[in-house]
Amino acid sequence: MSAPRTARYLDYNATAPIRPEARAAMLSALDAGGNASSVHALGRAARDQVEKARDIVAQRIGASSQRLIFTSGGTEASAIALQGLAIDADVLIVGATEHDAVLKTAQSLKLPVEIWPVDAHGRADLDWLEARLKDSSSRVAVALMLANNETGVIQPVRAVADLVHAAGGRLHVDAVQALGKIAVDVAELRADTLAVSAHKIGGPQGAGALAYGEGVKLSPLWRGGGQERGLRPGTENIAAIAGFAAAALACDPAELAPQSAWRDAAADKMKAVGAVIVGEGAERLPNTLCVAAPEWDSARQVMWLDLSSVCISSGSACSSGKVAPSHVLTAIGLGSLAPYSIRASGGYASSESDWSTLAEIWLDGYARVMSRRRAEVA
Ligand code: PLP
Repeated sequence: MSAPRTARYLDYNATAPIRPEARAAMLSALDAGGNASSVHALGRAARDQVEKARDIVAQRIGASSQRLIFTSGGTEASAIALQGLAIDADVLIVGATEHDAVLKTAQSLKLPVEIWPVDAHGRADLDWLEARLKDSSSRVAVALMLANNETGVIQPVRAVADLVHAAGGRLHVDAVQALGKIAVDVAELRADTLAVSAHKIGGPQGAGALAYGEGVKLSPLWRGGGQERGLRPGTENIAAIAGFAAAALACDPAELAPQSAWRDAAADKMKAVGAVIVGEGAERLPNTLCVAAPEWDSARQVMWLDLSSVCISSGSACSSGKVAPSHVLTAIGLGSLAPYSIRASGGYASSESDWSTLAEIWLDGYARVMSRRRAEVA
């Protein structure tokens, strides 16, 4: 996907437009052909392509390329990680605002799941975890995302890793939304497993990676050939892997630095007319704005903005179309605002005028809604 020229695309947390470098790498890999398991020259070239990509992605996230496998995306990477960490755990402790990729996978495994609450800003409650880990009667595996897809709230992963390891447990980190937006370093975070996805950084959809630490036990979700160290059998999608690596090389949190000021300027205008900015009190990704406008239905907000070619989403775009209120806002204690919340998220090609146009059109729409309400009441 490349964002239509006329559109103001502020939905990067759903998917980022493909970067030219990633597109070029994919086309070249497709043209080159070959199966990375074949022993002839074409196969060896394909293998070389996969291993170079592995080195690049591993380096991007401070992981060892010996312990990084390619997957079909963030969902699959988290599924392999959680299934693996469950092998030596009696209980899975999962952040309340995790993506469904983690929450639903955890709930599908055959061990008890405990939901770890967040505070009023969406930050994981460290005191709760510390108290919980004092009970040493069970072996724990913990899952905490680095940054939330709906609110952009950044979690204190490093502090959590220390607590979990001191209790003899293992930590899985979903870094899908963090990659390219803030620093992601597996070693620095002390994550036992960490999931990333290509399409959030300008690579193709359907590619991701799982990095894992030494001694972490993992098992494949299905059986087949020995690809990806036997952990993700099936012929590698070389074009997608090459595109992922090209995007990983190109993405840089520095390119998003200006977004936070543009986002905050838009947010201030919205706040001035009564909107609530979710997660504002916590450290957030520079590109993400979650805003709720009481009395203006999120689906209508999305449609109103769409009419002016501004692309944003309501709640989690991965599950857009679902009517259920956002579990993220509910966990924060803002469940009553969930039907009125939208998410705008910028990225490498977003401009200041994308954000100011969003605010302008949104304010116009909200003014119309509120004047209609006033007329109904009068
Ligand atoms: N984790 C988070 C935080 C996400 O935002 C998403 C997608 O939106 C995923 C996981 C799933 O990643 P993928 O679409 O690559 O399966």
